[in-house]
Amino acid sequence: GTKDPTDLNALIREYSNLAFHGMRANPNPINVDVQLELDESLPKVDLNSEDFSRVILNLVKNAFDAMREKIAKEGSDYKAKVTVRTKDLGDRVLIEVEDNGPGVPDDIRDKLLMPFFTTKKGTEGTGLGLSITHDIIKSHEGNLEISSKVGDYTKFSIELPKVKS
Ligand code: ADP
Ligand code: MG
Repeated sequence: GTKDPTDLNALIREYSNLAFHGMRANPNPINVDVQLELDESLPKVDLNSEDFSRVILNLVKNAFDAMREKIAKEGSDYKAKVTVRTKDLGDRVLIEVEDNGPGVPDDIRDKLLMPFFTTKKGTEGTGLGLSITHDIIKSHEGNLEISSKVGDYTKFSIELPKVKS
């Protein structure tokens, strides 16, 4: 799709909120603290905002699903936290979605981006979210990295080029 200079922080605010309220309205809501740490000096970024909104939705929804698993193990007192961050890196911008959920085991780490890979039962997961997310990031000339520690955290980091001036 076509790209236009976009206020990425505004897009993140809108779609993190949408994901949160969607999750809360569903049969299996969890208590989770969503923290936005947005770099207010971030310049505009060339985005197809319709496509890129799905990146935010997919990553934040996955984080909620992961937290739900963690809370099922640890109990509802667990301080579930999802942080969405932006940062100006000079020639690029950084977007991070981090949760203090169960983490990603080593043996599935390399499969996450594959179409149809899911650890979710029944019809809960299509396994397409991260594959589509990765495609959208690539179509923005960006890259995606995953870092995680089992039992501790998972972090998806996206780097995107700035608007060419
Ligand atoms: P789906 O959500 O339909 O399972 P995705 O492509 O969005 O498909 O994700 C694939 C798999 O990656 C998930 O089933 C889950 O095992 C793993 N995953 C994604 N995000 C996280 C996360 N934040 N923490 C732990 N595991 C994750
Ligand atoms: Mg998903």
